[in-house]
Amino acid sequence: MNYLPSYARLFVWLVMSFVCFETNAIAGNQVLVIGIDGLRPDALAAAKTPNLDSLIQNGSFSETTQIQGKRYQDSDTISGPGWSSILTGVWADKHGVQDNSFAGKQYEDFPHYFVRIKEQFPEKQTASFIDWTPLDEHAVSGADIRRKYNPADGKDYIRTDREIATEASKVLRHEQIDAAFVYFGQVDESGHAHGFHPTVPEYIRAIETVDLHVGELQKAIRERAARTKENWLTLVSSDHGGQGTGHGSGHSTPEILNVFLIVSGKNAVKGKLTQTTFIVDVPVTALVYLGVKIDPQWKLDGQPVGLQGTP
Ligand SMILES: [Zn+2]
Repeated sequence: MNYLPSYARLFVWLVMSFVCFETNAIAGNQVLVIGIDGLRPDALAAAKTPNLDSLIQNGSFSETTQIQGKRYQDSDTISGPGWSSILTGVWADKHGVQDNSFAGKQYEDFPHYFVRIKEQFPEKQTASFIDWTPLDEHAVSGADIRRKYNPADGKDYIRTDREIATEASKVLRHEQIDAAFVYFGQVDESGHAHGFHPTVPEYIRAIETVDLHVGELQKAIRERAARTKENWLTLVSSDHGGQGTGHGSGHSTPEILNVFLIVSGKNAVKGKLTQTTFIVDVPVTALVYLGVKIDPQWKLDGQPVGLQGTP
């Protein structure tokens, strides 16, 4: 760049130094993704959730996050397609999971975001905690620590969520972990049993119980970060809402299609997200925050949101 006058060279050097510094800084980041099955944003607002509220205050928040895309909306509005989108960053025409049978899954071509992390940073450590057994069995790969929980009769999520909170907190406090996915199932279970609505006491109680678990995870991360000086980002979202006691075939029901998204931490933008956000944005935000270079060949549908320096 010798043809440039000296002040211009200085400017270019400053910009390049800043870019390199930022890249290095991102490479040392850590991400926790918390998935709460079947949580309606209006019920989140109605419940007493000091721990989720504190994450919202320390980051960016959307209560109009879409569980289906602009480009593709044909999958059922249930957990299999929803969590597959949240873990892979693509819609169901790509990941192939149209319902809870997981038939047609294309996770080889569109894998769990842990796989992309391990491809570029084999030394980074990943951990998964899930008590909806089919999701663990079908969708999880690239996990260094993989804990699955089995609710008795598929209805004992209060117990297994508690076990998840305890074990995930222990791992987050003591192990070398760079990316963790922690799933809680009881809010959806309660919605199916009693109703998905802010006026349903059992549904609200399930949300408040999960909030306490979120508090345990955050405490573990705070203690850890005080020791390690790591920069943790926490993302929280859901796979669908609900109406009555269900959420299937909800393609024209806003209470089912709208969920929430929290992007929280020191490097998160603060305040309401003004653009439309989608559940496929969750893993892409996690990848970008970790310093993973997004390859266009991956054909991701999501984009990073709520991070300083992203739209
Ligand atoms: Zn679900």
